[in-house]
Amino acid sequence: MKIKFPHYFLIILAIVFNFSCSKESSVIEDAVIVEDDTITLESVYKDILTPAYYLTSTDISFKNEVNQFVNTVQNIQFGHPLEGLNSIIPSFVIKGNYGSTKGTGTSIQYHPAVDIHVGNYQKNVSLYAAHDGYISTARDVDKYRQYVAITKNIEDNTGQLIGRLVTIYAHLDLDAPESLFQEGDYVSKGTLISKHLYAETVGGPHLHFEVRYYRATDIGNETFYGGNVAGLTQPSAGDWLYGYWNTTVGYGFGNPKNHDLFLY
Ligand SMILES: [Zn+2]
Repeated sequence: MKIKFPHYFLIILAIVFNFSCSKESSVIEDAVIVEDDTITLESVYKDILTPAYYLTSTDISFKNEVNQFVNTVQNIQFGHPLEGLNSIIPSFVIKGNYGSTKGTGTSIQYHPAVDIHVGNYQKNVSLYAAHDGYISTARDVDKYRQYVAITKNIEDNTGQLIGRLVTIYAHLDLDAPESLFQEGDYVSKGTLISKHLYAETVGGPHLHFEVRYYRATDIGNETFYGGNVAGLTQPSAGDWLYGYWNTTVGYGFGNPKNHDLFLY
């Protein structure tokens, strides 16, 4: 005897089969087991400056911590710091590339940021948040002059804090009469955060735009450029140039291009 299935039965069968397959594949994804001696996600670095301390480290858990963070944080796409939601980007030139050197002898420093000069040394320049986060700093310090920092907590897919992304907008003039925000305020990508660059900055008014990566447990340790020359007179972040945080310093520098922002 020939059994005939009605069409709707086949459709139900197909839906059930399809559902069980997609469910199975998501279970497999969730169940990826990372062995303690396995370095994960290393392939994501090909376009990113990677410091020697990372490459030579034999501390697998350190490498995995960095890898997990970078793999997550680089999904955050930056807006242009000169571009608001209803504005166009003014003409600008870059005079300090990411990773370039400044100074000579024992005062040589590596510039872990990008210097953006607008127009003809313009100082009335509107600056915008490159990503969402909260205003973690708006104050005056040596070298940076006045600056604003925006911090975003980075979590893994279970909601656990695995690090922090910080962008720094330095050489500003925050003494201007308008008060745009206070520390702790939330800003979204494209929010106006400052209208004035500091007029007296060496080399002319410009935005020093810096990206930092902090370990989850370590934030607020503000120092200026990193250097690798013994006897540095400037505050230094330690014995490294730029790139991810190392095992002894709580933060490292990142390149804006990690976040799809190509400034030059
Ligand atoms: Zn700079």
